[in-house]
Amino acid sequence: LERTFIAIKPDGVQRGLISEIISRFEKKGFKLVAIKIMIPSKDFAQKHYHDLKERPFFNGLCDFLSSGPVVAMVWEGEGVIKYGRKLIGATDPQKSEPGTIRGDLAVGVGRNIIHGSDGSETAKDEIALWFTPWELV
Ligand code: ATP
Ligand code: MG
Repeated sequence: LERTFIAIKPDGVQRGLISEIISRFEKKGFKLVAIKIMIPSKDFAQKHYHDLKERPFFNGLCDFLSSGPVVAMVWEGEGVIKYGRKLIGATDPQKSEPGTIRGDLAVGVGRNIIHGSDGSETAKDEIALWFTPWELV
């Protein structure tokens, strides 16, 4: 069954949105197969966002991801990668539809509260980066 990596970023944790976000994935019918809370190091954040290393916001983005606790999760279900992105909404919360997590709960692109893998390859890589196989049920 398909799996995706979802992370509640430090702003989402700080704002008390953990249960709200988990609840949206659960209610849709996806299955939580791994979860932990951790503060990623800057080096770890750079590994996670390595695809964006040429972008001007890369350094600030990695500083931010490593600035506080992150809730790392793996969700499983048919179509979870694509539909998970749909639940999350567009990258820029100003452009995310109401009804999506970012559309309902965030206002700025640098503080968009949640991450979701953007395809099957990145899902595989991100799950392997954040979790060891025995942490997955
Ligand atoms: P994520 O990978 O976090 O799920 P995404 O796939 O919607 O988000 P990406 O293009 O992968 O978007 O960008 C990764 C993150 O970088 C975004 O979530 C956002 O926090 C940040 N980001 C993207 N574009 C900008 C920008 N123009 N200015 C500042 N931060 C940005
Ligand atoms: Mg992305």
